[in-house]
Amino acid sequence: MITINEHYEKLAKSYLFVDIARSVAKYQAEHPDRDVIKLGIGDVTRPLPPASIKALHAAADDMADPATFRGYGPEQGYDFLREAIAEHDFRSRGVQISADDIFVSDGSKCDTANFQELFSGNQRIAVPDPVYPVYVDTNVMAGRTGSFSDGRYADLVYMAGSGANGFVPPPPAEAVDLLYLCFPNNPTGATATREQLRAYVDYAREHKALILFDAAYEAYIRDPELPHSIYEIPGAEGCAVEFRSFSKTAGFTGLRCAYTVVPSTVTVWAGDGSPRVLRDLWNRRHSTKFNGASYPVQRAAAAIYSEEGRAQVRDLTDFYLANAAIILRGLERLGYTTYGGVNSPYVWVDAGRPSWDLFHLLLNEAGVVTTPGAGFGPAGEGFIRISAFNEREKVEAAMDRIVTAIGP
Ligand code: PLP
Repeated sequence: MITINEHYEKLAKSYLFVDIARSVAKYQAEHPDRDVIKLGIGDVTRPLPPASIKALHAAADDMADPATFRGYGPEQGYDFLREAIAEHDFRSRGVQISADDIFVSDGSKCDTANFQELFSGNQRIAVPDPVYPVYVDTNVMAGRTGSFSDGRYADLVYMAGSGANGFVPPPPAEAVDLLYLCFPNNPTGATATREQLRAYVDYAREHKALILFDAAYEAYIRDPELPHSIYEIPGAEGCAVEFRSFSKTAGFTGLRCAYTVVPSTVTVWAGDGSPRVLRDLWNRRHSTKFNGASYPVQRAAAAIYSEEGRAQVRDLTDFYLANAAIILRGLERLGYTTYGGVNSPYVWVDAGRPSWDLFHLLLNEAGVVTTPGAGFGPAGEGFIRISAFNEREKVEAAMDRIVTAIGP
């Protein structure tokens, strides 16, 4: 008899996007002429950078010619892309990452989800709260948590964000083995300073723990003082893995390409305390379970590192950041306390009431869809997330409607 992995039965049912969709459908049925503006989802709306489009066309031609056709590529990614990443995303910022430390994939969702399987079942895990749910659910599936009650899983350590800590919670008071961090953060838009990241790195070194650092929104950092990579913190090259994605950087959510950095200097331990090289473990896992991102997609990704590609990515991310500034201005006029929206495409709003109440108010009075913060974890209650990923006219119209509908 085939029996299931019973840890799946512990997964809390996420009704967040189902409930949002139901509310929107009801509103739309009652207001058939009203155009609902969606600032809830974290998906991009602008097309790919022209440099990537050109590279995709050229790669399609390569695939049409026996002389340039490519079949299976290296599982870790083509050298042309790994070298470009190491040079432009790291060495140009003074961080010594080698192309051999980079593992190209088809998305950071899978990478952040899969990485935990390298570690034993009894590891103690810390996650930010509010959180990108993938970090939590994959550890639940792997059996590293107890059951779910009152919005929390037993045996999981929640690093609670709040207005008081600016949604950059300090490292846990207790010892954990694996910490997930995400800066610029989804959903709060918070960014971490060098000193704040140093506290996590010091913690990891003290406890022989590993940091999984999700930098999916790195391309939105504009403040020259803010670190772009955890490896800008000395010592991180021994205790941290970094995830980057082309999704929000260059509009690749539908094309799919990302990468994970696992420096050869990161040590982990076997049960008997003997050291292991983490990169070897991930290389084994990656090459066993993944057969490489497609050649045209990797060409499209490499194109963003050309001179024109870099300028186009800057324009693309500037576009969404300008949307975020419009959202922030509107909310300021209404007197709301906000977080993020600068160096980040997400604005996190103190609702001053339960998350769902503000969600319903904005939907019913202004026809604007947001995301209730309560859906991202217990510390998200009382907040909503507004996404800057939309077309300019929609963002402007949404904020005008909100100010008119609920303003003074
Ligand atoms: N990490 C964070 C924090 C995200 O918000 C997202 C997507 O929304 C991802 C990872 C997934 O990115 P990808 O499209 O590369 O799978």
